[in-house]
Amino acid sequence: MTATTKPRTESSPADHGNPAATATPGPLRPGRMETDRLATRIAVAEGRDTRTVTSPLTGDVLGVVPVGTAQDVEAAVAQCRRVQQRWAATPVKERAAVLLRYHDLVLDGQDELLDLIQAENGKARVWAFEEILDQAVTSHYYARLAPRALKPHNRLTALPGLVTAVEHHVPKGVVGVISPWNYPLVLAVSDALAALVAGNGIVIKPDSQTPFTAIRAFELLEEAGLPEGLVQIVTGPGSEVGKAIIEATDYVMFTGSTATGRSVARQAAERLIGFSAELGGKNAMVVTADADLDRSVEGATVGCFANTGQLCISIERLYVDQALAPAFTERFARRVTAMTMSAEQAYGHEIGALASQDQLDKVSAHVDDAVAKGAKVLAGGQARPDVGPYFYEPTVLADVTPDMDLYREETFGPVVAVYPYSSIDDAVHEVNDTEYGLNASVYCGDVKAGRAVAERLMAGTVNVNDGYSSGWASLGAPMGGMKASGVGRRHGREGLLKYTESQTVAVRSALAEKLQDPGNDGAGYARRFTTLLKAAKHLPR
Ligand code: NAD
Repeated sequence: MTATTKPRTESSPADHGNPAATATPGPLRPGRMETDRLATRIAVAEGRDTRTVTSPLTGDVLGVVPVGTAQDVEAAVAQCRRVQQRWAATPVKERAAVLLRYHDLVLDGQDELLDLIQAENGKARVWAFEEILDQAVTSHYYARLAPRALKPHNRLTALPGLVTAVEHHVPKGVVGVISPWNYPLVLAVSDALAALVAGNGIVIKPDSQTPFTAIRAFELLEEAGLPEGLVQIVTGPGSEVGKAIIEATDYVMFTGSTATGRSVARQAAERLIGFSAELGGKNAMVVTADADLDRSVEGATVGCFANTGQLCISIERLYVDQALAPAFTERFARRVTAMTMSAEQAYGHEIGALASQDQLDKVSAHVDDAVAKGAKVLAGGQARPDVGPYFYEPTVLADVTPDMDLYREETFGPVVAVYPYSSIDDAVHEVNDTEYGLNASVYCGDVKAGRAVAERLMAGTVNVNDGYSSGWASLGAPMGGMKASGVGRRHGREGLLKYTESQTVAVRSALAEKLQDPGNDGAGYARRFTTLLKAAKHLPR
């Protein structure tokens, strides 16, 4: 069914040949009947304009979705609010049980979800499976955490025993989720899982390129017991539907570019609502002189090219100790050149399509600009229309200089620049010399020394002897960006409690009331409390 293609010519800039490729296989899965059915679940009034969703794997039409408006968002929020009140009154354990059932439904129904993710995003199946993994561990984690973390807790008061205080976590109400196209399942649903188990409803705008995976996943959540109507999906442009969501909801979880993140922050600030923003990055990996060559080459390959580099935490800058750099670079370029590309909806390939023409244009422009200004292509460097409309070879560049666009700008594609360094201080300085601070990686032999380097890198997650997955999958620990890479965190207690308002209910006893009453004797009241405070300092806490 598939054919191996080798279209590159002698004029190719790569030193090591081309990634092997296989051409498009049979018809896309799912077919139009299924995407048309999924589209009926979108909360947009009848008669709106429609938008065609095409698959980046093949360029074929995958389905059609309505273009929602601000009125649709208002209606969706109102409907969500009605259902949310019942959901907030449902015991946390019952809410958590829904997540546990969803966990099983995702694992059992993974083939269908993998097809959807591949069809609308274009990624290779192995990276689509990362999204399944994430759903399973995230739903399990929040289902276990929520009953403990959301339980009312007794808190210390100034008059212990005489005044008691209980901290409650009250759901925000309706949480708006605005998500991008690069992880259609993870970025639409994982944050929503935390918000839902905390007692909220969701109004979500998935990216217009990738709506169907999210719709199917929320359908599975309903099969798992989520009340119908608690999640409302509105498709449409960010400039209208995204803005309307920020205007009408009680908290916003945004994932996307730093530029849009700034606009979301301005709007949320005006309304005085909370928000989290998971934004862009220009992530770096440091390979120290004592790093194992095989491990670091493999780690860099996955760290840079998983999901065709369209991963907010993927590596776009590689700093390699100059003693190791020649051997590392030669082996890395060979490994990257040997990566296989395919539009097949099957396992067995490492590189999928870029998600859109815009993505292809951006990646091509970055590589062309770098090459025109003197960068050397060590692997890849070309679009591959023979495989599919938006395929681009995994690309390794050397001799990249600050005047090139990709030196500082996020490419968000399968392109990495290798820079040899002469001292670890220089490497740390270079890694930190960016407006971003999302993810970083250190490959090393001596883990203690590697950990010390990691702690000097200004990034929200730093992975030692891994590119990104350990930091992401450390679910008990917060994950997010420093500097222009984000505001707030997902994962950990922070990732759950941000979807709640903390409320303190304090109860004063009759004795406390008496003690606190100054009556006509203000001086006696002051003396009484001064003595009490001095004594209290020596009490065990
Ligand atoms: P984008 O900012 O263009 O779009 C993201 C979402 O925001 C889309 O659904 C879009 O329709 C919506 N949107 C656009 N304008 C809006 C507005 N004015 N108000 C509200 N919503 C609006 O980002 P993108 O190009 O789709 O995604 C790629 C970017 O996302 C990259 O920079 C990448 O690094 C980043 N990203 C970050 C993370 C993370 O966790 N930090 C994860 C994935 C992607």
